[in-house]
Amino acid sequence: VLECAAVRKEFRGNLVLRDLDLTVAEHEVVVLIGASGSGKSTLLRCVNLLEPVSDGSIRLDGEHITDPAVDPDRVRRRIGMVFQGYNLFPHMTVLDNITLAPRRVHGRARAEAEAQAMGLLERVGLADKAKEFPDRLSGGQQQRAAVVRALVNAPRLLLLDEVTSALDPELVGEVLDLIRTLRDDGMTMLIATHEMGFARQVADRVCFLHDGAILEQGPPERVLGEPAEPRTRQFLQRII
Ligand code: ATP
Ligand code: MG
Repeated sequence: VLECAAVRKEFRGNLVLRDLDLTVAEHEVVVLIGASGSGKSTLLRCVNLLEPVSDGSIRLDGEHITDPAVDPDRVRRRIGMVFQGYNLFPHMTVLDNITLAPRRVHGRARAEAEAQAMGLLERVGLADKAKEFPDRLSGGQQQRAAVVRALVNAPRLLLLDEVTSALDPELVGEVLDLIRTLRDDGMTMLIATHEMGFARQVADRVCFLHDGAILEQGPPERVLGEPAEPRTRQFLQRII
């Protein structure tokens, strides 16, 4: 589904991604771990074309999306993304938040978009919150609604960046359960997280990012349990 080849990203001379190679196969869940500043969010933002790459290429379903001739909006419709917090527009109901893109970007009828959104909300246990404004929902409910919003376009790829790190610990579980459900449904996902327990539970493959490159990758039990690289070991010791 996704192929990043020699992706390089510089911010004013600061090299943040160093010729990074990464592929995510259909139905695969890849989790990025690594110290703060290692480039996880930057990589996700490059994949979603929120940041232009400085060099290298990214392909989605074979299409070179980093080609300057490509329309970023068309690409983003095939990718869902959820960030750490503040994903929902505060002045719109949950339902309007979710149906905004399908109605405006895809020109779909309100009734059809709302029916689909209600179906998804039902699945994540939020149907009764559809007409509420986001500030009436708990943090975990808001994040689940944000995931629903990312799913309405039936994306080929879901990007999740620290979706649980702004949540109180007791609310983390409900968001993780939802992500596990999506994985069981076969959703292809690229996830950045600081939570090793979560990485271990959902990842098919864990990639350890260090200084903008993948230093080590493999099955979660191997990378998290018996890391081969001293730097991975150091990182894991520091955060556990
Ligand atoms: P964290 O775990 O804290 O979320 P991260 O791995 O997601 O960290 P990034 O946010 O990708 O790290 O940042 C990588 C580096 O890129 C950092 O040194 C950061 O300062 C730099 N950086 C990110 N965005 C910008 C920007 N818009 N302009 C300049 N530098 C940036
Ligand atoms: Mg980040």
